[in-house]
Amino acid sequence: MTENTTGVQAQQHDIIIRNARVIDGSGEPSFTGDLAILDDRISALGDLSKDRGASEIDAGGKVLAPGFIDSHTHDDHALVATPSMDFKISQGVTTVVTGNCGVSIAPLAIDRRPPPPIDLLSGDPRNFHATFAGYLDALDAEPAAVNAVCQVGHSTLRLAAMERLDRTATGDEIDAMRTTLAESMEAGAAGFSTGLFYPPARAAATEEVIEILEGFSDFGAIHTTHMRDEADHIADSIAETARIGREAKIPVLISHHKCVGRNNHGRSGETLAAIDQARATQLLTLDAYPYVAGSTMLDAGRLMTASKVLVTWSVPHPNYSGWDLEDVAKDMGRSVDDTIEALLPAGGIFFSMDEEDVRKILAYPHTMIGSDGIPGDEHPHPRLWGTFPRVLGHYSRDEGLFDLETAVRKMTSMTAEQFKLKDRGTIRLGAFADLVLFDAETIEDSATFEHPKTPARGIDRVFVNGRLVWSDGGFTGARPGRALRHRH
Ligand SMILES: [Zn+2]
Repeated sequence: MTENTTGVQAQQHDIIIRNARVIDGSGEPSFTGDLAILDDRISALGDLSKDRGASEIDAGGKVLAPGFIDSHTHDDHALVATPSMDFKISQGVTTVVTGNCGVSIAPLAIDRRPPPPIDLLSGDPRNFHATFAGYLDALDAEPAAVNAVCQVGHSTLRLAAMERLDRTATGDEIDAMRTTLAESMEAGAAGFSTGLFYPPARAAATEEVIEILEGFSDFGAIHTTHMRDEADHIADSIAETARIGREAKIPVLISHHKCVGRNNHGRSGETLAAIDQARATQLLTLDAYPYVAGSTMLDAGRLMTASKVLVTWSVPHPNYSGWDLEDVAKDMGRSVDDTIEALLPAGGIFFSMDEEDVRKILAYPHTMIGSDGIPGDEHPHPRLWGTFPRVLGHYSRDEGLFDLETAVRKMTSMTAEQFKLKDRGTIRLGAFADLVLFDAETIEDSATFEHPKTPARGIDRVFVNGRLVWSDGGFTGARPGRALRHRH
């Protein structure tokens, strides 16, 4: 405490941000005020005209919000490989949830290139970690700019426990996966993800997932899923997801919810009604990203449902990254199917959704925002750099899909609650100082399908654990991120 000129005890802080429009993450209306940071926490809030900070920032009426939590990422290895995480902090993201779609960088000891889609994390087996504890320790040793909440992937466990992946697991294999999952949860894993759509897990029966998860509700874990089918059989997949949650007695989160393929355009009314019905008796939420195109490994099956495909990477033909698949076929003088074969292993962007469905799903009250960005791609989907500003600028401000307070809630407190992140996702006294200062008038995603690696406009400053990581349109060099261990 120091004495100020009026004789009132004034508190000394590290940083004071004055004259901000504070959106606290709860969904409540914003208010104008000041916020102070001491070390890694919010140390005062309100009218701080009598307080002093070692450094002071005039927000000039810009929005001060909790740092965004990206509920759906594939940043497992990016946290190690590109610790500046500029594609995230440039959007105001301060925490990423990793290990999605059944795919995690740990626990897996492997001596060859992992099969797709596990290789979307890294094609180099040396980048995988044999134990979950070892992975989290590696994040501690070389911290990233953002915090990480890490999940265990079902396909990763299958690859470690099973000789062949084209069948459901035996009792012994399920036991082996349960043992590894328990060790990982003890080490601090926040959840268990499945990707039943993908080849490494496609043959897994529903019962396999239920048996692996039984008893893990004691760990307070969540099950997130890239469902078996997001196209013609989406209703069956929602029923399967709900059944896993009910029978394993665990909260479930439907990842990147969408209705894929022309046949299924307009079905979001039906899928959201099914989700509402399940929610009446169990814990079930979802996330989504704000685009009509998805992105994943390239394979022929996906083409049937897409109106256009762009190549995001190819091991044998990296020169075709960013090309339209049809142009690649012409250039190679081959059929589209033969072209795909020639490009593999490879990734693509698939234009396969309907704008009205995207809007309905984003606006659904229980939808969080998750980017699903793939940081290793040479020509990534623009969601990697644009997701959060696109929701705030395009969908909230320009299109009026929901108010700004609601948009912020979908990327902060709602996500923190699902992943049980203590003292994050809200602005209040004593919470961690994960913060973003942005201009509500100008915030805009700049990343496009043509030029995806472009930082957004309108993000002024970003703080992680009280340290400034993004300022004046660039990374500050600070890497205050933490591996947030799940405690149960
Ligand atoms: Zn997925």
